[in-house]
Amino acid sequence: MSEAPALLPWLAAPLAQGLGLRAHALLLHGPAGVGQFELGLALATGWLCEIHDKAARPCGHCASCRLMAAHMHPDFHLLLPDALREPLGWGTVEEGDDDAKGGKSKAKPSKEIRVETVRAAIEWGQRTTSRGRAKVILIHPAHAMNAVSANALLKTLEEPAGRLRLILTANDPEALLPTVRSRCQRLRLDLPPRAQAIAWLAAQGVARPEVLLAAAGGQPLEAQAMAAGGIGSDDWERVPIAVQRGHSAALADWPLVRLIDALQKLCHDLMCLRAEAAPRYFSAAVLAPLVRQDTPSWSALAQWARELTQAVRHDEHPWHAGLRSEALVVQGARLWHTPRMQALAARGPLDTLDAR
Ligand SMILES: [Zn+2]
Repeated sequence: MSEAPALLPWLAAPLAQGLGLRAHALLLHGPAGVGQFELGLALATGWLCEIHDKAARPCGHCASCRLMAAHMHPDFHLLLPDALREPLGWGTVEEGDDDAKGGKSKAKPSKEIRVETVRAAIEWGQRTTSRGRAKVILIHPAHAMNAVSANALLKTLEEPAGRLRLILTANDPEALLPTVRSRCQRLRLDLPPRAQAIAWLAAQGVARPEVLLAAAGGQPLEAQAMAAGGIGSDDWERVPIAVQRGHSAALADWPLVRLIDALQKLCHDLMCLRAEAAPRYFSAAVLAPLVRQDTPSWSALAQWARELTQAVRHDEHPWHAGLRSEALVVQGARLWHTPRMQALAARGPLDTLDAR
């Protein structure tokens, strides 16, 4: 049986804190790429551990910890949208997966936690424990439950049967039904200290981790996902100049979702510079060539932000992804092709707007 995965270093303190809480329903919340799911699993492992009772972390070696590591614990039930099963390494098909039964249907895996899976989990929770310690249901993320699913859970959240405990995760607790929120004790997960996150990313083999950590808004798991998806620090730093030059080919192999995210962050940072504030996702040095003549106007930036928001809404639309990304980059390049910017460029040294 596999060993338990190493705990992310910044989760040790919240794990100890969570294991010290007596609540039977816990809401883990905070930025998405920090490890709510990993913390939820570690908490469940700790509650079910047969050696370290009330300790700061599970023992990692007892039968229960090993069953958790092998994803086979009979007293643990995971509610996950089908779309997250594979990315999180919890199998491609599990209970309630219609695609598996249909075989040929190539429908996209659902991003929702369906009411029938919630009802099945509740029913499972009412049975006696298999190993006698506790039963744990982890719901990740809780906002994947629609109102019907969430309502089905209310009674269980209020009065879980026997030794049942529930863990819910959320980026934004305010996005959950107030009735769900109010029945849970909260445990907040903050961004880890920058140095700790950078050291961890470096240990994962991420080159120049500080660049990707900033790109991910300080969320190390998000930075790791970018690197794993083929977007390195150098790729990230090439974005601003590629957009300014309308050089869409340089960004052609970016997944559309990542590209839109990068453009939104670039837009955000240009707004920061316009407001004479420090940029957040790109370094000031990387942005410098874009604002050497002048920073794009507020109105142009605001319009670009609106267009990008629009693009997010349609990012699952089956348009040709290549055409979409090209159009998005060209849209961005327009910021520097206003008559005012052109006039400035004509007057000043032509070091940034030169054609290559
Ligand atoms: Zn154990």
